[in-house]
Amino acid sequence: MTIGRFAPSPTGVLHLGNLRTALASWLSARAAEGRWLIRMEDVDGPRCSPRLGELQLGDLAALGLHSDGPVLWQSERTKLYRAALAALYGAGRLYPCACTRKDLQSLASAPHAEDALRPYPGRCRDRAWEGFDHALRLRLPEAPVAWMDLLLGPQADDPPALTGDPLLFRRDGCFAYHLAVVVDDGAQEITEVVRGADLRSVTATQVQLQEALGLPRPAYAHLGMVTAPDGSRLGKRAGALGLAALADRGVDTAQVLGWLGWSLGCQPTPAPCRAEDLIPAFRWTRVPPGDLPVPATWC
Ligand code: GLU
Repeated sequence: MTIGRFAPSPTGVLHLGNLRTALASWLSARAAEGRWLIRMEDVDGPRCSPRLGELQLGDLAALGLHSDGPVLWQSERTKLYRAALAALYGAGRLYPCACTRKDLQSLASAPHAEDALRPYPGRCRDRAWEGFDHALRLRLPEAPVAWMDLLLGPQADDPPALTGDPLLFRRDGCFAYHLAVVVDDGAQEITEVVRGADLRSVTATQVQLQEALGLPRPAYAHLGMVTAPDGSRLGKRAGALGLAALADRGVDTAQVLGWLGWSLGCQPTPAPCRAEDLIPAFRWTRVPPGDLPVPATWC
C-alpha cells in the first residue's frame, strides 16, 4: 500500500510551492488508494513554533488535505532519534566532529537551495572518541546511489562529493534533519516521498543513512519549484504567497486548488475545483517536471 507524507517545518507560512508539494503527495497517495500522513519537522527548536505548525495544519485543512493518522511532531520523538544514533554508534558508523559552531550552523534544517550545499571535507574522520559531548557525523561509504525518481526518471549521485559525511547530531543536543527525516520515514513506513527539487541533492545521502539503519527505501518524487512570474526564486516574497495573503487579494481556496491541479497536469485549465475532483486524473507521467511561475496577478 502507498503511504505518502507531507513533512513541513513549522518555520513560516506555507507558500504556493509548499502547497503544491502537499497536494501532489496527497493526490498520489489518494489515486493509489493509499494513506497520507502529515509530519511536523520541528527538531530545529529555535526556528520552529507550534503556532506556525497549527497555522500550516489549518491551511492544509482549508484545502481539504487531512492526515490519515495523528500528526507527528518530531520534537516529541527524540527517543527514537537517540536510539538510531546508538545503533549507528554500535555499528561503528559514527565519528565525533569538533568543527566550529559556524561550520555546523543551520544543519538541523533541510538544506534548501538558499543554503549552499558544500560537502563536509571529512576533517574529523579520524578523531578519537573522548566522551560523548561532541557533534556526530555518519561515515559514508564510497558508493554512488542510483534511484528511479517518479518524476525525473533515473537519477544517480555520489553522496561523498555532494554532502560529505552528514551531521546527525549537534553538540548543543539538537538532532539533525537527515537523521529525523530518515528515522521517521522508516517508523511511519512511508513508501513515497514527494518534495521539492531543492532537496534532490540530499536524497542519495539519506538513502545511505537508510541503509546504515536497515530501513527500506521509499520511492522519491522531486517537484519543480514555484517561482516568481519572471522565473526568479520567490525568496522573501514566498511568505506573501500563502492562503491568507491570497485570500486578501481575492483568490479563494478553490482557485488556488484549480491552479495547483492544472500545474500538476490534472486538468486542462486552472478552473476552480476541490482537491478530491483532481484525484481521478492524477498521474506522475502527466506532472510537468520543470519550475513553474506563479500567476502575475497573484503577486
Ligand atoms: N521538513 C523539510 C522541509 O520543510 C522537508 C523534508 C522532506 O520532505 O524530506 O524542508
